[in-house]
Amino acid sequence: MSWEPVIGLEVHVHLKTRTKMFCRCPVGFGAPENTQTCPVCLALPGALPVVNRTAVEWTIRLGLALGCRIAEHAVFSRKNYFYFDNPKGYQISQYDLPFCINGKVQVPTADGDNMVRIVRAHLEEDAAKTVHVGGRTGRIRGADYSLVDFNRGGTPLVEIVTEPDIGSAEEAKRFLQILRQTITELGISDAEMEKGTLRVDANVSVRPAGSKELRTRTELKNMNSFTFVARGIDAEVARQTAVWESGEAVRQETYDFDATTGALTPHRAKEEADDYRYFPEPDLVPIEPPAELVERLRSELPELPAKRIRRLENDLELERATVLVTSGLDSLWQQAVAAGAEKIPAANVVANNVVGAGLDPAAVSAKELAKLVDARERIPRAAFDEAISKLAEPGFSADPYLAQETVSDEAELEPIIARILDASPGQVEAFRGGKEGLLGFFVGQVMKETGGKANPRVVSELLRAKLK
Ligand code: ADP
Ligand code: ZN
Ligand code: MG
Repeated sequence: MSWEPVIGLEVHVHLKTRTKMFCRCPVGFGAPENTQTCPVCLALPGALPVVNRTAVEWTIRLGLALGCRIAEHAVFSRKNYFYFDNPKGYQISQYDLPFCINGKVQVPTADGDNMVRIVRAHLEEDAAKTVHVGGRTGRIRGADYSLVDFNRGGTPLVEIVTEPDIGSAEEAKRFLQILRQTITELGISDAEMEKGTLRVDANVSVRPAGSKELRTRTELKNMNSFTFVARGIDAEVARQTAVWESGEAVRQETYDFDATTGALTPHRAKEEADDYRYFPEPDLVPIEPPAELVERLRSELPELPAKRIRRLENDLELERATVLVTSGLDSLWQQAVAAGAEKIPAANVVANNVVGAGLDPAAVSAKELAKLVDARERIPRAAFDEAISKLAEPGFSADPYLAQETVSDEAELEPIIARILDASPGQVEAFRGGKEGLLGFFVGQVMKETGGKANPRVVSELLRAKLK
Protein backbone atom coordinates (compact mmCIF):
# COMPACT_ATOMS: atom_id res chain seq x y z
CA MET A 1 0.00 0.00 0.00
CA SER A 2 1.23 3.51 -0.69
CA TRP A 3 0.60 6.50 1.57
CA GLU A 4 -0.01 10.13 0.77
CA PRO A 5 0.81 13.14 2.97
CA VAL A 6 -1.97 15.45 4.17
CA ILE A 7 -0.75 18.84 5.34
CA GLY A 8 -2.40 21.90 6.85
CA LEU A 9 -0.40 24.97 7.84
CA GLU A 10 -0.78 27.55 10.60
CA VAL A 11 1.23 30.66 9.77
CA HIS A 12 1.90 33.57 12.12
CA VAL A 13 2.91 36.91 10.65
CA HIS A 14 4.17 39.90 12.65
CA LEU A 15 2.69 43.10 11.28
CA LYS A 16 5.19 45.93 10.92
CA THR A 17 2.88 48.61 12.24
CA ARG A 18 4.58 51.52 13.98
CA THR A 19 2.95 50.71 17.32
CA LYS A 20 1.71 47.63 19.15
CA MET A 21 -1.71 46.03 18.84
CA PHE A 22 -3.40 47.57 21.87
CA CYS A 23 -1.04 50.31 23.08
CA ARG A 24 1.27 52.95 21.63
CA CYS A 25 4.59 51.28 22.39
CA PRO A 26 6.81 51.06 19.34
CA VAL A 27 7.09 47.78 17.45
CA GLY A 28 10.66 46.89 16.60
CA PHE A 29 13.62 44.70 17.25
CA GLY A 30 17.00 45.35 18.74
CA ALA A 31 16.00 47.79 21.49
CA PRO A 32 17.36 46.98 24.99
CA GLU A 33 15.17 44.46 26.81
CA ASN A 34 12.00 45.73 28.49
CA THR A 35 12.33 49.31 27.27
CA GLN A 36 9.34 49.23 24.91
CA THR A 37 6.61 48.64 27.42
CA CYS A 38 3.79 50.50 29.11
CA PRO A 39 1.01 49.80 31.62
CA VAL A 40 -1.16 48.24 28.86
CA CYS A 41 1.32 45.69 27.52
CA LEU A 42 2.59 44.95 31.03
CA ALA A 43 -1.02 44.49 32.22
CA LEU A 44 -0.82 46.86 35.15
CA PRO A 45 -4.13 47.17 37.02
CA GLY A 46 -6.63 49.47 35.37
CA ALA A 47 -4.89 49.72 31.99
CA LEU A 48 -7.23 49.31 29.01
CA PRO A 49 -6.50 48.21 25.42
CA VAL A 50 -7.19 50.40 22.36
CA VAL A 51 -7.31 48.68 18.95
CA ASN A 52 -4.63 49.60 16.41
CA ARG A 53 -6.63 50.67 13.34
CA THR A 54 -3.77 50.07 10.91
CA ALA A 55 -3.40 46.49 12.12
CA VAL A 56 -7.10 45.90 11.43
CA GLU A 57 -6.87 47.39 7.94
CA TRP A 58 -3.79 45.35 7.12
CA THR A 59 -5.45 42.15 8.33
CA ILE A 60 -8.39 42.88 6.04
CA ARG A 61 -6.01 43.64 3.18
CA LEU A 62 -4.27 40.31 3.71
CA GLY A 63 -7.60 38.50 4.00
CA LEU A 64 -8.73 39.96 0.68
CA ALA A 65 -5.46 38.90 -0.98
CA LEU A 66 -6.12 35.38 0.33
CA GLY A 67 -9.57 35.41 -1.22
CA CYS A 68 -11.34 35.50 2.14
CA ARG A 69 -14.75 36.82 3.02
CA ILE A 70 -14.37 39.75 5.40
CA ALA A 71 -16.59 39.51 8.45
CA GLU A 72 -19.19 42.22 8.89
CA HIS A 73 -18.95 41.68 12.61
CA ALA A 74 -15.62 40.68 14.14
CA VAL A 75 -14.90 40.11 17.81
CA PHE A 76 -11.75 39.95 19.92
CA SER A 77 -11.71 37.16 22.48
CA ARG A 78 -9.64 36.28 25.49
CA LYS A 79 -7.62 33.11 25.19
CA ASN A 80 -6.82 32.20 28.76
CA TYR A 81 -3.58 30.55 29.71
CA PHE A 82 -1.12 30.93 32.55
CA TYR A 83 2.54 31.37 31.61
CA PHE A 84 5.06 34.08 32.31
CA ASP A 85 5.28 35.29 28.70
CA ASN A 86 1.82 36.71 29.20
CA PRO A 87 1.27 39.13 32.11
CA LYS A 88 -2.51 39.40 31.67
CA GLY A 89 -3.08 35.68 32.08
CA TYR A 90 -4.80 35.72 28.69
CA GLN A 91 -3.94 36.66 25.14
CA ILE A 92 -6.31 38.91 23.22
CA SER A 93 -7.05 36.94 20.06
CA GLN A 94 -10.05 36.07 17.95
CA TYR A 95 -12.12 32.94 18.28
CA ASP A 96 -15.47 32.35 16.60
CA LEU A 97 -15.71 35.70 14.80
CA PRO A 98 -12.35 36.44 13.12
CA PHE A 99 -11.84 39.17 10.52
CA CYS A 100 -11.26 36.84 7.56
CA ILE A 101 -12.84 33.49 6.69
CA ASN A 102 -13.13 30.97 3.84
CA GLY A 103 -10.39 32.03 1.48
CA LYS A 104 -8.38 30.22 -1.15
CA VAL A 105 -4.88 30.52 -2.53
CA GLN A 106 -3.84 29.16 -5.89
CA VAL A 107 -0.51 27.41 -6.04
CA PRO A 108 0.60 26.99 -9.65
CA THR A 109 2.10 23.54 -10.28
CA ALA A 110 3.13 21.66 -13.41
CA ASP A 111 -0.27 19.96 -13.54
CA GLY A 112 -2.66 22.80 -12.93
CA ASP A 113 -3.36 25.02 -9.97
CA ASN A 114 -3.50 23.44 -6.57
CA MET A 115 -6.17 25.17 -4.52
CA VAL A 116 -5.35 25.62 -0.84
CA ARG A 117 -8.43 26.69 1.10
CA ILE A 118 -7.92 29.18 3.90
CA VAL A 119 -10.02 28.48 6.98
CA ARG A 120 -9.45 31.86 8.57
CA ALA A 121 -7.05 34.71 9.19
CA HIS A 122 -7.36 36.41 12.53
CA LEU A 123 -5.64 39.17 14.45
CA GLU A 124 -4.06 38.73 17.86
CA GLU A 125 -1.19 39.98 20.01
CA ASP A 126 2.14 38.24 20.37
CA ALA A 127 3.43 37.02 23.71
CA ALA A 128 6.63 38.30 25.33
CA LYS A 129 9.92 36.67 24.42
CA THR A 130 11.38 34.17 26.87
CA VAL A 131 14.97 32.99 27.16
CA HIS A 132 15.84 29.94 29.25
CA VAL A 133 19.34 30.08 30.62
CA GLY A 134 21.59 27.28 31.82
CA GLY A 135 20.07 24.14 30.31
CA ARG A 136 21.44 22.16 27.40
CA THR A 137 18.48 22.49 25.07
CA GLY A 138 17.53 26.15 25.47
CA ARG A 139 14.12 25.01 26.72
CA ILE A 140 12.70 25.60 30.14
CA ARG A 141 13.20 22.02 31.26
CA GLY A 142 16.66 21.80 32.78
CA ALA A 143 17.26 25.56 32.72
CA ASP A 144 18.62 27.37 35.80
CA TYR A 145 16.39 30.39 35.28
CA SER A 146 14.37 32.16 32.61
CA LEU A 147 14.31 35.76 31.39
CA VAL A 148 11.41 37.63 29.84
CA ASP A 149 11.59 40.51 27.36
CA PHE A 150 8.25 42.29 27.16
CA ASN A 151 9.27 44.41 24.15
CA ARG A 152 7.72 41.78 21.87
CA GLY A 153 4.61 41.37 24.05
CA GLY A 154 1.62 42.97 22.34
CA THR A 155 3.05 43.02 18.78
CA PRO A 156 0.24 42.60 16.24
CA LEU A 157 0.18 39.11 14.80
CA VAL A 158 -2.01 37.63 12.09
CA GLU A 159 -2.61 33.89 12.19
CA ILE A 160 -3.53 32.22 8.92
CA VAL A 161 -4.94 28.69 9.05
CA THR A 162 -5.25 26.50 5.95
CA GLU A 163 -7.45 23.48 5.37
CA PRO A 164 -5.47 20.23 5.07
CA ASP A 165 -5.27 20.72 1.29
CA ILE A 166 -1.53 20.42 0.78
CA GLY A 167 -0.29 17.11 -0.58
CA SER A 168 3.50 17.23 -0.26
CA ALA A 169 6.41 18.97 1.41
CA GLU A 170 7.33 20.56 -1.91
CA GLU A 171 3.83 21.96 -2.29
CA ALA A 172 3.93 23.33 1.26
CA LYS A 173 7.13 25.18 0.37
CA ARG A 174 5.59 26.62 -2.79
CA PHE A 175 2.50 27.73 -0.89
CA LEU A 176 4.67 29.44 1.71
CA GLN A 177 6.79 31.18 -0.92
CA ILE A 178 3.70 32.56 -2.59
CA LEU A 179 2.18 33.55 0.74
CA ARG A 180 5.34 35.34 1.87
CA GLN A 181 5.65 37.20 -1.41
CA THR A 182 2.00 38.27 -1.14
CA ILE A 183 2.56 39.54 2.40
CA THR A 184 5.69 41.52 1.58
CA GLU A 185 4.10 43.07 -1.51
CA LEU A 186 1.18 44.23 0.61
CA GLY A 187 3.79 46.04 2.71
CA ILE A 188 2.39 44.71 5.98
CA SER A 189 5.33 42.61 7.19
CA ASP A 190 8.89 41.66 6.30
CA ALA A 191 7.81 38.07 6.82
CA GLU A 192 11.27 36.71 7.55
CA MET A 193 11.48 33.33 9.23
CA GLU A 194 15.05 33.90 10.44
CA LYS A 195 13.88 36.97 12.33
CA GLY A 196 10.74 35.33 13.62
CA THR A 197 8.42 37.72 11.79
CA LEU A 198 6.97 34.70 10.01
CA ARG A 199 6.44 31.43 11.89
CA VAL A 200 5.05 28.22 10.48
CA ASP A 201 3.52 25.25 12.26
CA ALA A 202 2.89 22.26 10.02
CA ASN A 203 0.09 19.79 10.75
CA VAL A 204 0.88 16.47 9.15
CA SER A 205 -0.91 13.17 8.67
CA VAL A 206 -0.76 10.39 6.12
CA ARG A 207 -3.51 8.28 4.56
CA PRO A 208 -3.76 5.46 2.04
CA ALA A 209 -3.13 7.07 -1.35
CA GLY A 210 -6.36 8.07 -3.07
CA SER A 211 -8.56 7.84 0.03
CA LYS A 212 -10.37 10.86 1.45
CA GLU A 213 -10.07 10.03 5.13
CA LEU A 214 -8.29 12.27 7.62
CA ARG A 215 -6.15 10.35 10.08
CA THR A 216 -4.59 11.54 13.34
CA ARG A 217 -2.24 14.44 12.76
CA THR A 218 0.85 15.70 14.51
CA GLU A 219 2.13 19.25 14.62
CA LEU A 220 5.68 20.36 13.79
CA LYS A 221 7.13 23.52 15.28
CA ASN A 222 10.35 25.51 15.43
CA MET A 223 11.51 25.32 11.85
CA ASN A 224 13.31 28.44 10.74
CA SER A 225 13.31 28.26 6.96
CA PHE A 226 10.97 26.98 4.26
CA THR A 227 13.52 24.33 3.38
CA PHE A 228 13.47 23.09 6.98
CA VAL A 229 9.67 23.08 6.96
CA ALA A 230 9.81 20.84 3.90
CA ARG A 231 12.45 18.59 5.46
CA GLY A 232 10.52 18.34 8.71
CA ILE A 233 7.37 17.33 6.83
CA ASP A 234 9.25 14.68 4.85
CA ALA A 235 10.74 13.26 8.04
CA GLU A 236 7.35 13.19 9.77
CA VAL A 237 5.61 11.59 6.79
CA ALA A 238 8.24 8.84 6.79
CA ARG A 239 7.83 8.33 10.54
CA GLN A 240 4.03 8.14 10.41
CA THR A 241 4.07 5.79 7.43
CA ALA A 242 6.33 3.43 9.37
CA VAL A 243 4.05 3.62 12.42
CA TRP A 244 0.92 2.68 10.44
CA GLU A 245 2.75 -0.03 8.51
CA SER A 246 3.97 -1.63 11.73
CA GLY A 247 0.32 -2.02 12.73
CA GLU A 248 0.38 0.70 15.36
CA ALA A 249 -1.45 4.02 15.44
CA VAL A 250 -0.08 7.55 15.15
CA ARG A 251 -0.67 9.57 18.30
CA GLN A 252 -1.58 13.25 18.29
CA GLU A 253 1.58 15.01 19.42
CA THR A 254 3.65 18.12 18.83
CA TYR A 255 7.25 17.81 17.67
CA ASP A 256 10.19 20.15 17.41
CA PHE A 257 12.18 19.60 14.25
CA ASP A 258 15.94 19.95 14.65
CA ALA A 259 17.25 20.80 11.21
CA THR A 260 20.89 19.99 12.01
CA THR A 261 20.20 16.42 13.11
CA GLY A 262 16.94 15.88 11.23
CA ALA A 263 15.48 14.64 14.54
CA LEU A 264 11.87 15.09 15.63
CA THR A 265 11.56 15.49 19.39
CA PRO A 266 8.21 15.51 21.22
CA HIS A 267 7.25 19.02 22.34
CA ARG A 268 4.17 18.65 24.53
CA ALA A 269 0.76 17.06 24.37
CA LYS A 270 -1.57 19.26 22.33
CA GLU A 271 -4.04 21.23 24.40
CA GLU A 272 -7.68 21.02 23.55
CA ALA A 273 -9.14 24.29 22.30
CA ASP A 274 -11.55 24.17 25.25
CA ASP A 275 -8.75 24.48 27.77
CA TYR A 276 -8.34 28.09 26.79
CA ARG A 277 -11.84 29.04 27.97
CA TYR A 278 -12.22 31.60 25.21
CA PHE A 279 -14.73 34.37 25.87
CA PRO A 280 -15.39 37.74 24.22
CA GLU A 281 -12.99 40.49 25.36
CA PRO A 282 -15.12 42.72 27.63
CA ASP A 283 -12.77 45.70 27.27
CA LEU A 284 -13.21 46.00 23.49
CA VAL A 285 -16.31 46.51 21.38
CA PRO A 286 -16.88 44.31 18.30
CA ILE A 287 -15.53 45.75 15.06
CA GLU A 288 -17.76 46.11 12.02
CA PRO A 289 -15.53 46.99 9.05
CA PRO A 290 -17.53 49.34 6.80
CA ALA A 291 -18.29 47.94 3.33
CA GLU A 292 -16.73 51.03 1.69
CA LEU A 293 -13.47 50.41 3.52
CA VAL A 294 -13.40 46.77 2.46
CA GLU A 295 -14.16 47.69 -1.16
CA ARG A 296 -11.47 50.38 -1.18
CA LEU A 297 -8.90 47.93 0.18
CA ARG A 298 -10.01 45.34 -2.40
CA SER A 299 -9.59 47.85 -5.23
CA GLU A 300 -6.07 48.67 -4.03
CA LEU A 301 -4.83 45.06 -4.20
CA PRO A 302 -1.88 44.51 -6.52
CA GLU A 303 -1.89 41.72 -9.10
CA LEU A 304 -1.19 38.64 -6.98
CA PRO A 305 1.86 36.37 -7.30
CA ALA A 306 -0.01 33.23 -8.44
CA LYS A 307 -1.60 35.15 -11.28
CA ARG A 308 1.70 36.68 -12.32
CA ILE A 309 3.37 33.26 -12.36
CA ARG A 310 0.70 32.03 -14.78
CA ARG A 311 1.17 35.12 -16.94
CA LEU A 312 4.94 34.67 -17.08
CA GLU A 313 4.44 31.07 -18.09
CA ASN A 314 3.55 32.30 -21.57
CA ASP A 315 7.26 33.02 -21.98
CA LEU A 316 9.10 30.99 -19.34
CA GLU A 317 9.05 27.59 -17.69
CA LEU A 318 7.01 27.30 -14.51
CA GLU A 319 10.11 26.89 -12.33
CA ARG A 320 11.73 30.03 -13.68
CA ALA A 321 8.50 32.01 -13.50
CA THR A 322 8.03 30.93 -9.88
CA VAL A 323 11.56 31.93 -8.87
CA LEU A 324 11.21 35.35 -10.50
CA VAL A 325 7.85 36.10 -8.92
CA THR A 326 8.56 34.70 -5.46
CA SER A 327 11.78 36.66 -5.23
CA GLY A 328 10.04 39.84 -6.37
CA LEU A 329 12.08 40.12 -9.55
CA ASP A 330 9.47 39.56 -12.23
CA SER A 331 8.87 43.22 -12.88
CA LEU A 332 12.62 43.85 -13.31
CA TRP A 333 12.68 40.98 -15.82
CA GLN A 334 9.75 42.50 -17.65
CA GLN A 335 11.42 45.90 -17.82
CA ALA A 336 14.66 44.35 -19.11
CA VAL A 337 12.67 42.57 -21.82
CA ALA A 338 10.90 45.83 -22.67
CA ALA A 339 14.35 47.43 -22.94
CA GLY A 340 15.31 44.87 -25.58
CA ALA A 341 16.73 41.87 -23.70
CA GLU A 342 15.90 38.37 -24.92
CA LYS A 343 13.34 36.76 -22.62
CA ILE A 344 15.00 33.52 -21.55
CA PRO A 345 18.57 34.81 -21.18
CA ALA A 346 17.18 37.81 -19.27
CA ALA A 347 15.29 35.47 -16.92
CA ASN A 348 18.47 33.45 -16.34
CA VAL A 349 20.56 36.51 -15.60
CA VAL A 350 17.93 37.94 -13.24
CA ALA A 351 17.25 34.64 -11.44
CA ASN A 352 20.92 33.64 -11.12
CA ASN A 353 23.17 36.68 -11.19
CA VAL A 354 20.95 39.46 -9.88
CA VAL A 355 19.59 37.23 -7.10
CA GLY A 356 23.11 35.95 -6.38
CA ALA A 357 24.43 39.50 -6.00
CA GLY A 358 21.60 40.29 -3.56
CA LEU A 359 20.65 43.49 -5.39
CA ASP A 360 17.65 45.66 -4.61
CA PRO A 361 15.62 45.22 -7.80
CA ALA A 362 14.03 48.64 -7.44
CA ALA A 363 17.46 50.27 -7.73
CA VAL A 364 18.54 48.36 -10.83
CA SER A 365 18.47 50.11 -14.20
CA ALA A 366 16.62 47.77 -16.56
CA LYS A 367 18.23 49.38 -19.59
CA GLU A 368 21.78 48.70 -18.37
CA LEU A 369 20.71 45.20 -17.32
CA ALA A 370 19.39 44.57 -20.84
CA LYS A 371 22.76 45.60 -22.32
CA LEU A 372 24.58 43.15 -20.06
CA VAL A 373 22.18 40.32 -20.90
CA ASP A 374 22.89 40.95 -24.56
CA ALA A 375 26.67 41.06 -24.06
CA ARG A 376 26.92 38.19 -21.57
CA GLU A 377 28.74 35.80 -23.91
CA ARG A 378 30.87 38.41 -25.62
CA ILE A 379 32.54 40.12 -22.66
CA PRO A 380 34.89 38.55 -20.12
CA ARG A 381 33.24 36.67 -17.28
CA ALA A 382 34.99 38.83 -14.70
CA ALA A 383 33.77 42.03 -16.35
CA PHE A 384 30.23 40.67 -16.51
CA ASP A 385 30.22 39.68 -12.83
CA GLU A 386 31.65 43.02 -11.76
CA ALA A 387 29.10 44.92 -13.83
CA ILE A 388 26.24 42.90 -12.32
CA SER A 389 27.49 43.63 -8.81
CA LYS A 390 27.34 47.36 -9.57
CA LEU A 391 23.99 47.39 -11.36
CA ALA A 392 22.15 48.93 -8.43
CA GLU A 393 24.61 51.80 -7.98
CA PRO A 394 23.19 55.21 -8.87
CA GLY A 395 24.14 56.33 -12.38
CA PHE A 396 25.64 52.95 -13.27
CA SER A 397 26.55 52.54 -16.95
CA ALA A 398 27.32 49.17 -18.54
CA ASP A 399 29.18 50.76 -21.44
CA PRO A 400 32.77 50.54 -20.12
CA TYR A 401 32.20 46.83 -19.49
CA LEU A 402 30.74 46.25 -22.92
CA ALA A 403 33.93 47.59 -24.47
CA GLN A 404 36.02 44.87 -22.81
CA GLU A 405 36.93 42.03 -25.08
CA THR A 406 37.15 38.39 -24.24
CA VAL A 407 40.40 36.77 -25.24
CA SER A 408 39.47 34.06 -27.75
CA ASP A 409 42.62 34.28 -29.80
CA GLU A 410 44.28 30.86 -29.88
CA ALA A 411 47.72 32.28 -30.57
CA GLU A 412 47.44 34.31 -27.38
CA LEU A 413 45.99 31.52 -25.25
CA GLU A 414 48.16 28.60 -26.34
CA PRO A 415 51.40 29.67 -24.64
CA ILE A 416 49.51 30.34 -21.41
CA ILE A 417 47.91 26.92 -21.56
CA ALA A 418 51.25 25.25 -22.29
CA ARG A 419 52.79 26.95 -19.28
CA ILE A 420 49.98 25.85 -16.97
CA LEU A 421 50.12 22.24 -18.13
CA ASP A 422 53.89 22.18 -17.68
CA ALA A 423 53.51 23.43 -14.14
CA SER A 424 51.07 20.65 -13.14
CA PRO A 425 52.39 17.35 -14.47
CA GLY A 426 50.59 15.37 -11.75
CA GLN A 427 47.17 16.75 -12.68
CA VAL A 428 47.86 16.22 -16.39
CA GLU A 429 48.62 12.59 -15.75
CA ALA A 430 45.52 12.19 -13.59
CA PHE A 431 43.35 13.76 -16.29
CA ARG A 432 44.75 11.42 -18.91
CA GLY A 433 44.15 8.56 -16.51
CA GLY A 434 40.41 9.36 -16.56
CA LYS A 435 39.91 12.16 -14.01
CA GLU A 436 38.10 14.37 -16.50
CA GLY A 437 36.73 16.57 -13.74
CA LEU A 438 40.18 18.20 -13.61
CA LEU A 439 39.30 20.13 -16.75
CA GLY A 440 37.61 22.70 -14.52
CA PHE A 441 40.83 23.05 -12.53
CA PHE A 442 42.81 23.85 -15.69
CA VAL A 443 40.17 26.26 -17.01
CA GLY A 444 40.26 28.01 -13.64
CA GLN A 445 44.04 28.39 -13.83
CA VAL A 446 43.81 29.96 -17.29
CA MET A 447 41.07 32.33 -16.14
CA LYS A 448 43.24 33.35 -13.20
CA GLU A 449 46.26 33.88 -15.42
CA THR A 450 44.27 36.07 -17.83
CA GLY A 451 42.51 38.09 -15.15
CA GLY A 452 39.16 36.53 -16.05
CA LYS A 453 39.36 37.68 -19.65
CA ALA A 454 39.77 34.38 -21.46
CA ASN A 455 36.75 32.95 -23.22
CA PRO A 456 36.05 29.81 -21.15
CA ARG A 457 34.55 27.93 -24.08
CA VAL A 458 37.63 28.44 -26.27
CA VAL A 459 39.91 27.59 -23.33
CA SER A 460 38.08 24.30 -22.71
CA GLU A 461 38.38 23.33 -26.37
CA LEU A 462 42.09 24.12 -26.49
CA LEU A 463 42.70 22.27 -23.23
CA ARG A 464 40.87 19.18 -24.41
CA ALA A 465 42.91 19.12 -27.60
CA LYS A 466 46.17 19.49 -25.67
CA LEU A 467 45.28 16.90 -23.06
CA LYS A 468 44.32 14.13 -25.49
P1 ADP B 1 -7.45 22.61 16.32
O1 ADP B 1 -8.75 23.32 16.50
O2 ADP B 1 -7.28 21.40 17.14
O3 ADP B 1 -6.25 23.51 16.32
P2 ADP B 1 -7.96 22.73 13.56
O4 ADP B 1 -9.15 22.06 13.02
O5 ADP B 1 -8.03 24.20 13.81
O6 ADP B 1 -7.53 22.00 14.86
O7 ADP B 1 -6.77 22.45 12.58
C1 ADP B 1 -5.53 22.99 12.79
C2 ADP B 1 -4.70 22.73 11.56
O8 ADP B 1 -4.51 21.35 11.35
C3 ADP B 1 -5.30 23.26 10.27
O9 ADP B 1 -4.28 23.85 9.49
C4 ADP B 1 -5.81 22.01 9.59
O10 ADP B 1 -5.77 22.13 8.18
C5 ADP B 1 -4.84 20.98 10.04
N1 ADP B 1 -5.39 19.62 10.07
C6 ADP B 1 -6.54 19.23 10.63
N2 ADP B 1 -6.72 17.89 10.49
C7 ADP B 1 -5.63 17.42 9.83
C8 ADP B 1 -5.19 16.13 9.37
N3 ADP B 1 -5.90 15.03 9.61
N4 ADP B 1 -4.01 16.06 8.72
C9 ADP B 1 -3.26 17.15 8.51
N5 ADP B 1 -3.61 18.38 8.89
C10 ADP B 1 -4.77 18.53 9.56
ZN1 ZN C 1 2.71 49.08 25.62
MG1 MG D 1 -6.17 25.68 15.63
